[in-house]
Amino acid sequence: MTSAGRFAPSPSGELHVGNLRTAILAWLFAKSTGRDFLLRVEDLDRARSGAEAEQLRDLEAVGVSWDAAVVRQTERGPLYEDAIARLAAEGRTYECFCTRREIQEAPSAPHSPQGAYPGTCRTLSEAEREIRRASRPASIRLRSEVAEWAVEDQLHGNYVGVVDDFVLRRNDGVTAYNLAVVVDDAAQGIDQVVRGDDLLPSTPRQAYLATLLGLPVPEYAHVPLVVNHDGVRLAKRDGAVTLGDLAALGVTAVSVRDLLLESLGLPAGSLQDAVPEFDPRRLPRERWVWKTPRG
Ligand SMILES: [Zn+2]
Repeated sequence: MTSAGRFAPSPSGELHVGNLRTAILAWLFAKSTGRDFLLRVEDLDRARSGAEAEQLRDLEAVGVSWDAAVVRQTERGPLYEDAIARLAAEGRTYECFCTRREIQEAPSAPHSPQGAYPGTCRTLSEAEREIRRASRPASIRLRSEVAEWAVEDQLHGNYVGVVDDFVLRRNDGVTAYNLAVVVDDAAQGIDQVVRGDDLLPSTPRQAYLATLLGLPVPEYAHVPLVVNHDGVRLAKRDGAVTLGDLAALGVTAVSVRDLLLESLGLPAGSLQDAVPEFDPRRLPRERWVWKTPRG
């Protein structure tokens, strides 16, 4: 089995400079530790036709390379179903018929945090499930045996987060992100996960699930996001934030790459040349505010 890092974009549109900065970081973490670097397209949801090709082109333009064929989640349904079947065989799943509104309006269980699933369908009898199946397809939830779980993160240290009875398969049949990501990382030999720190809160759920499935838990590094001048996570509406937008202003992909490297305290130039200079302990820990450069 290889030892690898990865970048896993959702093909919902063009990547923006925040996504590209995270991809460069993930590449540097992998290469500076002798790992392969893999690309996985997370296209179970919100895929837009043509976006994958644009994203791969933009990653290459800033110097991000990958060491094996691109993997797409829509081609991996049997792997996810196998994992759910194994959990179900151990009695670790149950059907949930709740709507989003019912979950929001349900009184939360004692000591359970805001937003955690209150466990409404955990104890339904088979007869009750039979009745509900007639009116609404079920989602599949994990019957979690813990309320929280700890992970080690290279930038955040020991992090403890909520583990509730989270969804494994949505009621529209789509595999949930938390399950797909755990199954894919293990199947691809990914033992280093570098991604935006907005995903840190869901990481304990994924590490717990990996443990239940007998899969190795990767090492984690959740890196600071890029934000707009209001301190809000960068988005497409924040002006010229994609390579396409910036090219129209006369800013080349190479200058964007250099700007991103400099924002990380690294010398401008090829990503390869930045590898010997890369030290996670010296990375800026604060969010980086994007200012549109002049061409
Ligand atoms: Zn429910």
